[in-house]
Amino acid sequence: MLNDKDRIFTNLYGKSSWTLDGAKQRGVWDGTAALIQKGGAWIIEEVKTAGLRGRGGAGFATGLKWSFMPKPSERPHYLIVNADESEPGTCKDRDILRFDPHRLIEGALLSAVAVNAHTAFIYMRGEFVNEARHVQTALDEAYAAGLIGKNACGSGWACDVVLHRGAGAYVCGEESALMESLEGKKGQPRNKPPFPAQAGLYGCPTTINNVETLAAVGAILRRGGAWYAGIGRPKNSGTKLFCISGHVNAPCHVEEEMGIPLRELIERHAGGVRGGWDNLLAVIPGGSSVPVLTKELSEKALMDYDGLREVGSALGSAGVIVMDKSTDIIAAIARLSHFYCHESCGQCTPCREGTGWMARMMERMVRGEAKVEDIDLLWDVSKEIEGKTICALGDAAAWPVQGLIRAFRPVMEERIRAAGGGR
Ligand code: SF4
Repeated sequence: MLNDKDRIFTNLYGKSSWTLDGAKQRGVWDGTAALIQKGGAWIIEEVKTAGLRGRGGAGFATGLKWSFMPKPSERPHYLIVNADESEPGTCKDRDILRFDPHRLIEGALLSAVAVNAHTAFIYMRGEFVNEARHVQTALDEAYAAGLIGKNACGSGWACDVVLHRGAGAYVCGEESALMESLEGKKGQPRNKPPFPAQAGLYGCPTTINNVETLAAVGAILRRGGAWYAGIGRPKNSGTKLFCISGHVNAPCHVEEEMGIPLRELIERHAGGVRGGWDNLLAVIPGGSSVPVLTKELSEKALMDYDGLREVGSALGSAGVIVMDKSTDIIAAIARLSHFYCHESCGQCTPCREGTGWMARMMERMVRGEAKVEDIDLLWDVSKEIEGKTICALGDAAAWPVQGLIRAFRPVMEERIRAAGGGR
């Protein structure tokens, strides 16, 4: 369990002021100039020591990602803050944006130094209207106080931070689609390589990180990478924001230690499963795109990258969706299939055609209007999508269906037989 003294996001529930005065009382902007003056190489090393991994879902090592940026040249470098949070079951970045925007802006400034960027863009989900107001107010305060701009914090480092609001497409959370959108084009993912560190925004070296990742950087640099590495488990260090929703007694959003057992997370913070633990049917542990866990696997699962991989799922965005025994699990996953079909940008065939096919087949599965062999066909089609598309939306569409078949195949077969199918 996370000690209060190790908490980074101390205004997660908006109980204190989110403006500059409140942020300073929480220690944000404390000694930032001295951190900048230690230089980009030092910042990268501290973040590597911390073992910070991307909190947007992929879990890539942040310091390593920064070190991929080329040496300074005449081409500008850019930092992009991915604030396009749209994963079903997830609202962790949103609470940072609305209740602690200065923590994010300071983290973006320090990270910009690490990647040699003098411009940082915050790309925010279009529906986040109030969050955008808070972030823009915080940016105005930071400019007025000389914390960002031509001589950020008096450190001699110039850094502009610009807020840009998207139009609400889920796929724009994918980094290359985000850059296309930021450039004013249709938000469709790019083929890789080249990767953003070589040719990103406007063809220039670019690093993109999630809000939660960057917002942790100030605390890591102030308290030291070793402090952060001492929380959680090896290769899975630090604190994490978990959003717990669904059939729990007290849905909530909480900062906890990485590696906390899933059952403890639900029972300690969310008041337990509605009707008690034995009434649990399944949990989606990391936002809608990761495979569902049965009750038995939920009992064993540790909430970090490796812990969830060991039980056949993933940490993803750490949006924990709890479903009790009243849930029609086939209908729940069918709803996700519909979501991914709707959000596919249509650029590549396996995703464009496959997500639609899976969504229609899943609707039939809900009604039992299928043959038992169709379950194998559904599995095969999901495998034809997984890993064969331009971006990870294809995988995200395939995994919930695969997780359903893996864990709840008998339920699907029973539904088909009850409806008179089953040949
Ligand atoms: Fe677009 Fe889907 Fe292909 Fe991604 S996988 S590029 S969302 S069609």
